Amino acid sequence: MKKLFLRRGKEESLLRFHPWIFSGAISHYDAEPEEGEVVEVYTCDNKYIATGHFQIGSIMVRVLSFEHEKIDQAFYEHKLSTSYDVRKQIGVAEKTDNNTYRLVHGEGDNLPGLVIDIYGKTAVMQAHSVGMHCDRHVIAAALKQVMEGKVENIFYKSETTLPFKAELGQENGFLLGGSSEDIAIENGLKFHVDWLRGQKTGFFVDQRENRSLLEKYSKGKKVLNMFCYTGGFSFYAMRGGAQLVHSVDSSQKAIDLTNANVELNYPGDTRHTAYAEDAFKFLDNMKEQYDLIILDPPAFAKHKDALRNALKGYSRLNQKAFEKIVPGGILFTFSCSQVVTKDNFRAAVFTAAAQAGRKVRILHQLHQPADHPINIYHPEGEYLKGLVLYVE
Ligand code: SAH
Repeated sequence: MKKLFLRRGKEESLLRFHPWIFSGAISHYDAEPEEGEVVEVYTCDNKYIATGHFQIGSIMVRVLSFEHEKIDQAFYEHKLSTSYDVRKQIGVAEKTDNNTYRLVHGEGDNLPGLVIDIYGKTAVMQAHSVGMHCDRHVIAAALKQVMEGKVENIFYKSETTLPFKAELGQENGFLLGGSSEDIAIENGLKFHVDWLRGQKTGFFVDQRENRSLLEKYSKGKKVLNMFCYTGGFSFYAMRGGAQLVHSVDSSQKAIDLTNANVELNYPGDTRHTAYAEDAFKFLDNMKEQYDLIILDPPAFAKHKDALRNALKGYSRLNQKAFEKIVPGGILFTFSCSQVVTKDNFRAAVFTAAAQAGRKVRILHQLHQPADHPINIYHPEGEYLKGLVLYVE
């Protein structure tokens, strides 16, 4: 295995198990590694410190292990079975009314660059690093072994998640099995999942618990689900007894999916209408009729430099909702930008409330669910935050 040596003193974060090594920390290598290759990392005094995937870029090594071990199928089997055990303990795996959960959440599961979501008998696997892309067949073999009898299909979907520069001939396709039932069941509700063309792995698995909470607030309400994508929140609201549910997304494809999901769960139910429209325009033009509003926009900031503008975006969006929500209304508002902290987000919503001149109480502070765990040594893994607000 090729060896990579750190500059003096640059091992500190690794001694605290942080899984990334930045290019500035690296002094030299014994032989130049290929992108995606597994390398061993040593201090300048030639002490072994970690093993990980090499990649050209600001994060040069993503650490897989802090112990001297081989990265082979047995390694991945061990990691995947630990992740599976965690999901069983959480209570999301092996349920009859829920076949949808995240099995591997990158750094949160000590597998930086890898995401695996489970939809019934199909696993959708996504590589966010060149190394995980190179190891995809070994990982698929390990997954088949660990989930024997539970997973029959493995769909690999990395066309949009890998760096273009690496010229890997990114691909989407089955590594195991083939076409299968494409219905996700989440807490008893059904969703068509389009692994091939859908966003992320085809569905937003991370809002399961927050959708459940919404259900409890829905009875008799007029609900507006902004940025609905496949309509997740809408069906929980309908099951919770909402009087009317309007779902909005700027993508016609998302609206088609939402309508298909209405037919799957509540065929012919006239309480639901979907609109393919821009959220900001919709909020500007809508009547003041909704008493439960969900705002779950895409990440407004993907990088630190975009933070200021992103916070303005969150303020503007939330202000529009505060201005129009009926007195006594409930607002579920989210940010999934990793660079926006809980405090940043709360401040942006605070500004929005003040600008709109509404009195607001925080009822719940929401976050990502337990199957999207945060590695304690990698606080950057915390990304989803939300507030449930009572607007007087
Ligand atoms: N709430 C969804 C996930 C939302 S993902 C769920 O529970 O599954 C963000 C969605 O916002 C995407 O579907 C995207 O098409 C939509 N979107 C992005 N910009 C938008 C805009 N300006 N107006 C309305 N929808 C937008």
